[in-house]
Amino acid sequence: MTAMDMVQPSTWAEALAARAEQPDLLPIAGGTDVMVDINFARTRPAGLLDLTRVDEIGSWSVEGGVLRIGAGVTYAQVLSDLVGLAPGLAMASRTVGSPQIRNRGTVSGNLGSASPAGDAHPPLLAAGATVEVESLRGRRLVAASDFFTGVKRNALEPDELIRAVHVPVTGGPQQFAKIGTRNAMVIAVASFALALHPAARRVGTGIGSAAPTPRRAPAAEELLADELDWDDRAPLDRSVVRRFGELVAAAADPIDDVRGSAAYRRHALAVLATRTLTWAWDDYRAQEAS
Ligand SMILES: Cc1cc2nc3c(=O)[nH]c(=O)nc-3n(C[C@H](O)[C@H](O)[C@H](O)COP(=O)(O)OP(=O)(O)OC[C@H]3O[C@@H](n4cnc5c(N)ncnc54)[C@H](O)[C@@H]3O)c2cc1C
Repeated sequence: MTAMDMVQPSTWAEALAARAEQPDLLPIAGGTDVMVDINFARTRPAGLLDLTRVDEIGSWSVEGGVLRIGAGVTYAQVLSDLVGLAPGLAMASRTVGSPQIRNRGTVSGNLGSASPAGDAHPPLLAAGATVEVESLRGRRLVAASDFFTGVKRNALEPDELIRAVHVPVTGGPQQFAKIGTRNAMVIAVASFALALHPAARRVGTGIGSAAPTPRRAPAAEELLADELDWDDRAPLDRSVVRRFGELVAAAADPIDDVRGSAAYRRHALAVLATRTLTWAWDDYRAQEAS
């Protein structure tokens, strides 16, 4: 490998200026995707824009009921600090790679790569998260459901960087489940996240690894908005649970590949959806009892 330019801003303002001036530099956070791509010669960027020295993006905060996760926040930080505030994202973070990957890899890097199999995406979709992106031209918020624009493509303009991810804190139960070919260090064959939003009487969903992009299952969400007994927290109707699974599977658009067939992915999603709904609703009913 020949030498490569490395620009290392120490403030967010410098990072935005560098991004505007040299949009052909590839941003790098934890490097757990970028370095693999460079090592395997899948990409040969003109240089790297190293964001790891920018302290402003390394922390999280809560304001007005919304959790703001800075772009430098790693999965390890999510697991140590955010289990209570973003339980679905924490469950997903626990399944990412190994401790080494979780210590370096960031939620925003997952969004930057925008893989259909990225584990942070389903819980962000289910929670109704938005991505805060910024350039010298200004700041904008992009709904997670609008952020993924194609296989490994996202809504970032060439001069923009991800500054943070905003996740509403609802206090409602959340779940994430992932199927892989083994239990650890595995890319999802299919994954599913679900978030109950009791105040809004709504359920959020997120499908992973079963369509060109991570996506929600809107018809399944609508079914539950109509059918769940939010006030009395009555047990789930089994036919509704089954129908929910079917609608989640129908929302997917999977492919056959080395990790699994399209038919298996659809079947797996229906199972993951019915399980996560049952777990989350049980948690919701238990919240009332406690
Ligand atoms: C062994 C191994 C196991 C893995 N296991 C999993 C797994 O189980 N689940 C999973 O989802 N992923 C997994 N990954 C992939 C990777 O760890 C994740 O995608 C991780 O979230 C990437 O974060 P990062 O900070 O390392 O990103 P980087 O590699 O630094 O960057 C990834 C992409 O995001 C862009 N980017 C980063 N930060 C910004 C920013 N602030 N603004 C704009 N663009 C930005 C970069 O330019 C690049 O395109 C694994 C990787 C390895 C090597």
